[in-house]
Amino acid sequence: MSKNWYPVIEYLKCDECGACVKKCSHGVYNKKKDITPLVVHPEGCVDGCHGCGNICPNGAIQYVGENTDWTPPNGSISAKKGCGCGGGC
Ligand code: SF4
Ligand code: SF4
Repeated sequence: MSKNWYPVIEYLKCDECGACVKKCSHGVYNKKKDITPLVVHPEGCVDGCHGCGNICPNGAIQYVGENTDWTPPNGSISAKKGCGCGGGC
C-alpha cells in the first residue's frame, strides 16, 4: 500500500461513467458516491497499479508518484485483463 502513489482525476475529462470506482477493490474511491469518482483513501492504492487508469475511456486518470512510461490508454485495455499489480484489481 502506498502513500506516494494514488490516482488523481482530471474532472474536465471525466464523464462520470463510474468504471474506475467499480474497478478498484482497495477502497481508494468512495463507492457510496457513485456519480463522481472521489479518491477518499489514497493510502489504499497499490504502488504501481494502473488498474483504474487503464480502463478509463477518457484518459482522465493520472497518478501521483508516476515514474513509468505509462500513458492513459483511454480504455483500450480490457477491465478483464487486470492491471498486473497483484492486488486483485
Ligand atoms: S485500481 Fe489500482 S490504481 Fe486504481 S485506485 Fe485501485 S489500487 Fe489504485
Ligand atoms: S473511468 Fe474515467 S471517465 Fe469514468 S468515472 Fe472514472 S475518471 Fe471518470
